[in-house]
Amino acid sequence: MDVADNIRQVRKIMAEAAGRSRRSPSAVRLMAVTKTVHDDRIVEAVQAGVDIIGENYVQEAKRKLETMGKRCEWHMIGRLQTNKAKYAVRLFDMIHSVDRLGLAVEIDRHARAAGLVMKILIEVNVAGEATKSGVPITDAVKLVRAVAPLPNLSVRGLMTMPPWFDDPEEARPFFRALRELRDRIETEGMPRVEMRELSMGMTGDYAVAIEEGATIVRVGRGIFGERPPRAPEQSDGPPMTL
Ligand SMILES: *Cc1c(COP(=O)(O)O)cnc(C)c1O
Repeated sequence: MDVADNIRQVRKIMAEAAGRSRRSPSAVRLMAVTKTVHDDRIVEAVQAGVDIIGENYVQEAKRKLETMGKRCEWHMIGRLQTNKAKYAVRLFDMIHSVDRLGLAVEIDRHARAAGLVMKILIEVNVAGEATKSGVPITDAVKLVRAVAPLPNLSVRGLMTMPPWFDDPEEARPFFRALRELRDRIETEGMPRVEMRELSMGMTGDYAVAIEEGATIVRVGRGIFGERPPRAPEQSDGPPMTL
């Protein structure tokens, strides 16, 4: 199946899941996750109408944006080193992976220097897995309170990546916990904080995530097929200039 066929299939499953939870299909946006994906396949996805491109690495996104241009929104979903905040601010429309105050402060500072307000999501490690990034769920409200006053950031919601399960039903409690956390933060009515977005659900579990309230699903393999293993030199390590 080609990229456009896969996207049609994903959108059908998305609409069905939205229907089951009595939500409008337009309340959920599809992000195509394009780590390791070649430029021409990304262009196909954009032409097939995906709303958002999601990238994990600043360096990879920079190269792709230089060759293909923006065409739609680009969101940062990978772990972000504080020293790459400057580049992330210039490349992306939204950063989903803000999980510590130090990173938020740097993004805010560079956004101010660039004369823009960066939309961010707070990444929450709902299951408390040691190997995953994300603020622990018990510290999430505190982090949102600390980030909220930063003038060149706009908090738009929460993001999570639950543990990996064969059966997507097992991920449901983690999606539900993120939604409940979002609702709890919303009741605090913090100035400048909009708890609108829930970025959750990947190829294996996006239908369940939508049933639990996802507003952005992040789908890679379901659109582009399996990814090759990442070579070490492709990692986001070396210093870079823009
Ligand atoms: C790679 C990745 C995805 C997409 O995963 P698939 O299983 O390919 O759909 C979504 N979110 C994040 C943060 C990722 O790193």
